Amino acid sequence: MHQKLSQTLKLLCQKATKLTTDEGVYDVAIVGGGMIGSSLAIALSALALKVVVIEPYPQTSELAPGFDARAIALSWGSMRIFKSLVLDKLIEEIATPISSIHVSDKGHLGITRLKAKQLNVSALGQVVELADMGKILFKALAKTNTKQYCPAKVVEMQLQDGYRGLSIELDCLDSSTKSTLDLKAKLVVAADGNQSAIRAMAGIETTSKPYEQVAIISTLESQLAHNNVAFERFTESGPVAFLPLSSNRISMVWMVDKTVSEALLEVDEAEFISQLQRQFGYRLGRITRLGKRFSYPLNLVTANSCTQSRLVLLGNAAQSLHPIAGQGFNLGIRDIACLGDVLRKALLENIDLGSAELLEEYVLSRSSDKSQVINFTDAAARLFANPSKLLSVPRNTALIMMNFIPELRSHLAEAAMGIGGRQSRLVRGLPLTLNRRYN
Ligand SMILES: Cc1cc2nc3c(=O)[nH]c(=O)nc-3n(C[C@H](O)[C@H](O)[C@H](O)COP(=O)(O)OP(=O)(O)OC[C@H]3O[C@@H](n4cnc5c(N)ncnc54)[C@H](O)[C@@H]3O)c2cc1C
Repeated sequence: MHQKLSQTLKLLCQKATKLTTDEGVYDVAIVGGGMIGSSLAIALSALALKVVVIEPYPQTSELAPGFDARAIALSWGSMRIFKSLVLDKLIEEIATPISSIHVSDKGHLGITRLKAKQLNVSALGQVVELADMGKILFKALAKTNTKQYCPAKVVEMQLQDGYRGLSIELDCLDSSTKSTLDLKAKLVVAADGNQSAIRAMAGIETTSKPYEQVAIISTLESQLAHNNVAFERFTESGPVAFLPLSSNRISMVWMVDKTVSEALLEVDEAEFISQLQRQFGYRLGRITRLGKRFSYPLNLVTANSCTQSRLVLLGNAAQSLHPIAGQGFNLGIRDIACLGDVLRKALLENIDLGSAELLEEYVLSRSSDKSQVINFTDAAARLFANPSKLLSVPRNTALIMMNFIPELRSHLAEAAMGIGGRQSRLVRGLPLTLNRRYN
């Protein structure tokens, strides 16, 4: 009787957890198929590496956290990288160009304007809706030889002889049919976002600075045309950013104190519009429509180390920033471009893809750009996102100075355009291919 029961239990367990072994061993395993993971996989396809992407949410899922209702501004530098990946034309079809940026402080003189024309570029950046970006990236990814496990998530990671071993749970969104699979890769890239499970599994600690703020996002329509102008307005309730979208829609990000965010998310549409209008003013006339509201808590989270043996953290898994300067993805895609260079060098020089020497080179190449953007964004969040009246004087001085000292403005423009850091191949417009004709 006892034996029969234990046999039945064994059968049931086997049904719930099938253990399979992946036939292959990978060069690179990318954990997370959001903006960073998908873009990296597309970039690496030029190197003819054996790459696998593991992502829990199906590409069509409305719940997919990487491609939600957000719209983000891709800098001029990010677009140059997408051009090297031959995705720029497709992105331009769904994007809205920013011809100028208007920065102001409510109730004060300080105003600064950055114009694409002054910088001799056709646009300062392109605003894209992440859901549309997802469609472009998934289509491009499907044309590569990248192996994809989706829906699937990594549940365990170990260091094995010369590899990182990963146990992944397939069909992870459907709890009734769980099966696991083991695979290994010379290098694992954690692109699994700011709550990175891989970072936790590796025991990498983070430094976290809460801003006590929440970003409320929504899509609006206004009486007057936005004329491709992006607005950033500092108000006593926090900064408000308006990014131009197609069909004269506007993507709004209102960064407010945690204590008032709940009420703002709950008030009816008319009341929300009236409060927003009071802060933003009437530069675009009346706000005539408001879409669904979503919220994001704001913290600066940086991983204390971006690499470990055979492991690199990329994008939000490495650093997640306050959105005030629109730098999160723009910084992350430069991480991708640099990692691409380093892996290309490894292939040309026959170096182990996960070697400590290579990862050290990656860290050194990225450290100055990363720390500049992280510090600049943190300073901007503290100076501009802080409603304190005491800070309105330095805030305004900064804005007025930027209007009168061109070097300062060009520094701001350089940050906004995303052209900091080492000029890796993709940033310079060169493909990652191993073909020496492109050297
Ligand atoms: C309001 C707001 C506005 C912003 N505006 C801008 C802007 O204008 N410009 C800009 O450059 N940036 C902006 N950002 C930042 C930008 O959105 C992020 O930096 C970027 O989207 C991060 O991409 P990611 O792929 O690193 O992370 P995510 O988008 O978080 O993707 C992580 C992926 O990993 C998957 N995953 C999670 N756990 C596991 C697991 N165990 N196994 C496998 N996969 C897993 C997730 O499903 C997800 O698909 C903004 C952010 C916010 C909140």
